[in-house]
Amino acid sequence: MLARRLQGIPPTIFSEMSALAVRTESVNLGQGFPDVDGPPGVIARAVEALENGQNQYAPGTGVPALREAIARHQGRHYGLDLDPDRQVCVTTGCTEGVAAALLGLVDEGDEVVVLEPYYDSYVAMIQMAGGVRRPVTLRWPDFRLDVDELRAAVGPRTRFILLNSPHNPTGTVLTRDELQAVADVAIEHDLVVITDEVYEHLVFDDHEHLPLATLPGMFERTLTLSSAGKSYSFTGWKVGWASGPAELVDAVLAAKQWLTFTSGAPLQPAVAHALDDEPDFPRELATDLQKRRDLLCSGLGEVGLDVRVPEGTYFALTDVSDLGWEDGLSFCLALPERAGVVAIPTQGFHDSEAGRHLVRWAFCKNPSVIEDGLRRLGDARLQA
Ligand code: GLN
Repeated sequence: MLARRLQGIPPTIFSEMSALAVRTESVNLGQGFPDVDGPPGVIARAVEALENGQNQYAPGTGVPALREAIARHQGRHYGLDLDPDRQVCVTTGCTEGVAAALLGLVDEGDEVVVLEPYYDSYVAMIQMAGGVRRPVTLRWPDFRLDVDELRAAVGPRTRFILLNSPHNPTGTVLTRDELQAVADVAIEHDLVVITDEVYEHLVFDDHEHLPLATLPGMFERTLTLSSAGKSYSFTGWKVGWASGPAELVDAVLAAKQWLTFTSGAPLQPAVAHALDDEPDFPRELATDLQKRRDLLCSGLGEVGLDVRVPEGTYFALTDVSDLGWEDGLSFCLALPERAGVVAIPTQGFHDSEAGRHLVRWAFCKNPSVIEDGLRRLGDARLQA
């Protein structure tokens, strides 16, 4: 029954694996959502909005208080100077931002260069928008950007790069040099870059997130997307935003108005409050997450998995080929029964074979949950 635009796109692996975790009573180290909510003061602000008449449609671009707070956030962290009325649009999570950007900008047959492994919604939305993806692979074990491969992916029909840094699922945070290479290619070939920066604050050690829009000559060709989900541990609120030059933000709004029309009104003042009045929360979350990253990564190493310690995000990747598995999917399908743990196979996030043996583990969970998962893995037979 499916329309051609959705054919060949499997159901999202995240919902599938979370359902499997519930069904098998497994520890869910798959889907990336925290098990502790964000700041109580932010929740109180949402309750206040719910109880005080902010329950009707918000403006299409979002409530002014949130757009202003987003502009201040981009100014404070990155020195970007945004007009909140013309250069910011609130979306229903960054997922809608990606969808609206692609639907609003991509014409039939346009090529979109995208980092592989790619987040699953990118593939679905590039296809639904009539675009053609051109993957550039980040490879195990370092997952660095290969600039020659990037250059080779760009052809006469390429109009966009869809970037994601900090990168899910590899945990790579693109360096200034890598971003400069992206900028050089974009300027040389007159490309627009859509950047998904939802893990912007979740970076570890000395790694630093740099928005592509801050590089010389890039603001005018970059649409920056982010959200409150990861930075403030409100993944279920689905409050995201797009920012950049007015003509790119207008394209997002042009599509968004026919998707969700406007986004959840009472949550928007609460997110404005989070950005303005809880500015330290994301950094503290990152400090805490780093400890959980280390707990998970050392534990995965102890049970015999080859692990890549991520520079940012919620996720660590392992290679399960040494354990004799044909691929990551068969490992992940066997894992609930063998160990009572759920993880995410990432081969579906690739066109190439590069991700065949990679499995993703989330560490945005309570330390006790991570420890429980590791104990279960330690007690199980993980060899194929
Ligand atoms: N972004 C989260 C992840 O990568 C969850 C996304 C989803 O469930 N669609 O796990």
